[in-house]
Amino acid sequence: MNIYLSESQFKYEIEKLCRIFLPFEKFSFVADEKSAQILCILKRTGRKVTLSAELSLFSEHAALKESTEETNLKELERRTAALLYRCFEKITGYRSPWGILTGVRPAKLFASQCKILGDDGARRYFRERLLVSQSKIDLLNTTANSEKAIIDLSKKRSVSVYIGIPFCPSRCSYCSFVSHSVEHAKKLIPKYVALLCREIEETAEIAKKLDLQIETVYIGGGTPTTLSGEQLSAVMGAVNAHFKLQNLREFTVEAGRPDTVTEERLLSILQGGATRISINPQTMNDRVLRAVGRRHAAKDTVKAMQLARRLGFSNINMDLIAGLPEDTIESFQQSLEEVLKLSPESVTVHTLCLKRSAKLSVDGCREVLKQGEEAEKMVDHAKNTLIEAGIFPYYMYRQSKMVGNLENVGYAKPGFEGLYNVYIMDETHTILACGASAVTKLKDPISGAIERIYNFKYPYEYCNRFEEQLKRKERIEKFYAELHGRY
Ligand code: SF4
Repeated sequence: MNIYLSESQFKYEIEKLCRIFLPFEKFSFVADEKSAQILCILKRTGRKVTLSAELSLFSEHAALKESTEETNLKELERRTAALLYRCFEKITGYRSPWGILTGVRPAKLFASQCKILGDDGARRYFRERLLVSQSKIDLLNTTANSEKAIIDLSKKRSVSVYIGIPFCPSRCSYCSFVSHSVEHAKKLIPKYVALLCREIEETAEIAKKLDLQIETVYIGGGTPTTLSGEQLSAVMGAVNAHFKLQNLREFTVEAGRPDTVTEERLLSILQGGATRISINPQTMNDRVLRAVGRRHAAKDTVKAMQLARRLGFSNINMDLIAGLPEDTIESFQQSLEEVLKLSPESVTVHTLCLKRSAKLSVDGCREVLKQGEEAEKMVDHAKNTLIEAGIFPYYMYRQSKMVGNLENVGYAKPGFEGLYNVYIMDETHTILACGASAVTKLKDPISGAIERIYNFKYPYEYCNRFEEQLKRKERIEKFYAELHGRY
């Protein structure tokens, strides 16, 4: 589709807005109004500014206009986006629960608006200016409050550690993560583990030199339990041996897929000092599991949970995904019931992220929007059921191309919130990351700016160019040296 903009600065926001309704459409920005199906025009006459948006879609046409004396370009951009949003809404009949808001950290934005406008002002801003639904504003309010209590635990020298294991037993159809099916990468794993332990050691040395305080450690993936018990012990052993963990508040290991949960691995995780694990069924419906290429059944999740409880794990998170292919509202509700019977301390409800598909062009758009409405009912049901069960929302984030333009929400029983989840999403403090595709994020506590150090994306690159990669970590010390005296 062609887009004509009179203000080229609006390009980024307008394209993101169009993606809410047409996630996989190819947009081109054109200089000729006549060849465009989407037009956003700003005209100035003296102090008066006239904004207009037009949309031609499905052989229908919608056009809206408004006048203002506003001078702030950001605000003019927001108003233009709102006009275009209304045009889309008029033709498609779809109202996004997040309105024109497209950012990934809405709770952070809400918290910052509360500081500027007060709680009521922030609510009004989200409702009237960003067109966010009341239900999402309530969710934001609760999560922002809960996140604040966790963020306040973080102090000047606080950091968290992330360790990535980018292997999985097989690839799920919906996955967009850089993860290698173990069948293809088996030979690489011993070398990967050995080098990862070295990177952990080197990173810990830097942290010690800088006197950084480790608040949380998170071993994620992929599926960390693709590693053997012995390999898990080696990785966790390296963390315990080299980092100063006296003040550690949380040590999470994503056990991930239930088909990888064995007694040997769980014992290694327990002995390695994990305080929290995650066992992720995604759905408790075997038909849906087959449809997404997961090689386990719901009964494997039950067994994995029973085993983990028997071995003494007392803080277990379970993940569900709303909007999976073949899932229905009824089967999603049933999955949630099954999960609740297993009494997890926390439940994370994700929304499926759409992957590019030939079907999902303009013609497939109505189907995608309908899928979004179904997913919205699922996440609403999850929210109400979990809150009723005493499991409350404590953090949230969004990704691009989520079904229904929805969100991922972490729910927890009070006292069982996943601290690392909040720190990484809020960008509260520095994250020291080890492993393939891991990204170290250095946070300047004064300006709030984040500097990133990227590790190589793929495990074979990580192994082959390890020394080169390790060298990049020298930047950590320089970063803190430059901060010296400013905090
Ligand atoms: S288990 Fe997770 S990371 Fe691995 S393939 Fe499936 S969705 Fe991707």
